[in-house]
Amino acid sequence: MLGLHCRLRKTQTLIYFGIMDITVVIPLYNEEESLPELHAWIKRVMEEHKFSYEIVFMNDGSTDRSWDVIEDLVKKDPNVRGIKFRRNYGKSPALYCGFAEAEGDVVITMDADLQDSPDEIPELYRMIMEEGYDLVSGYKQKRYDPLSKTLPTKLFNATARKISGIHNLHDFNCGLKAYKKAVVKNIEVYGEMHRYIPYLAKNAGFDKIGEKVVHHQSRKYGKSKFGLNRFFNGYLDLITLWFLSNFGKKPMHVFGFLGSVMFFIGFVAVICIGADKAYALLNHIPQRLITDSPYFFIALTTMLLGSQFFLAGFLGDLISRQSPNRNDYQIEKKI
Ligand code: UDP
Ligand code: MG
Repeated sequence: MLGLHCRLRKTQTLIYFGIMDITVVIPLYNEEESLPELHAWIKRVMEEHKFSYEIVFMNDGSTDRSWDVIEDLVKKDPNVRGIKFRRNYGKSPALYCGFAEAEGDVVITMDADLQDSPDEIPELYRMIMEEGYDLVSGYKQKRYDPLSKTLPTKLFNATARKISGIHNLHDFNCGLKAYKKAVVKNIEVYGEMHRYIPYLAKNAGFDKIGEKVVHHQSRKYGKSKFGLNRFFNGYLDLITLWFLSNFGKKPMHVFGFLGSVMFFIGFVAVICIGADKAYALLNHIPQRLITDSPYFFIALTTMLLGSQFFLAGFLGDLISRQSPNRNDYQIEKKI
């Protein structure tokens, strides 16, 4: 994936061979002003609660001074690591590489723009470790974003809840989330799928998914990196995920079904044409041309569509058979 499996120095050799409680993964694109403040805030919370931790800053091809700021933080603080993409790939690839690096028992993601509060970390950690959640998603119940964003978001979340079957989540795309380490090591966030990480987790078998109302702030510096096309792309991604989770390993089941329905309708239309002809013959009515019958066009269209669906099914099966992860299964335990 992207050829970016970069292994960095392990934070203080995993806090002197002990365990590491928390990894905070922060994807960022041009957020130079927020970083020092965010780092100081996380550090304060971690020290107050005596967590062993690391912060992984994922610089997603920033063109401002973000990387200089990260270099500076790494020099000053041994708990900080930085990864720099050569160009801007997007939030999902940044999370993917951050997850690959994460060593903490609990992995927390948060946006770099100070909209998410590090004060939520201790409770998120407790929910994962003590209440046994696989994933806890933040819920920005009171949002400080423009109406043009909050309104479509409500619709978006309602659809995502319905399609994913995760009925207790109100805010799929909240940047602030906590995961058991096993979750981030077993899901593949790609494209723009960061909006649906809970759905990806559920598909991988991590279904203890919870929610915590979190404090949200308006953006202090810079501007949002996503426009309104996020909603349109979001819906397309949701449909893809739904398809993959239901038929990803057996595309013929859906295309074959649609093809069969089409052929059935076509078959009925052919019978209607035959009945029409027989009726005309028996009652000595002048025969009309076959192309004058609407059934002819119904039969033609549905048969053609039916063959196309079957073809799509065969191709889909052929592709999924060749796919390198056709036999990827989540094994939870072996005894
Ligand atoms: N981000 C990123 N790569 C991108 C776009 C955004 O890493 O291509 C980061 C961004 O810097 C921020 C987080 O993703 O830390 C969320 O972005 P933003 O705050 O712009 O989204 P919004 O709050 O508007 O949903
Ligand atoms: Mg933001």
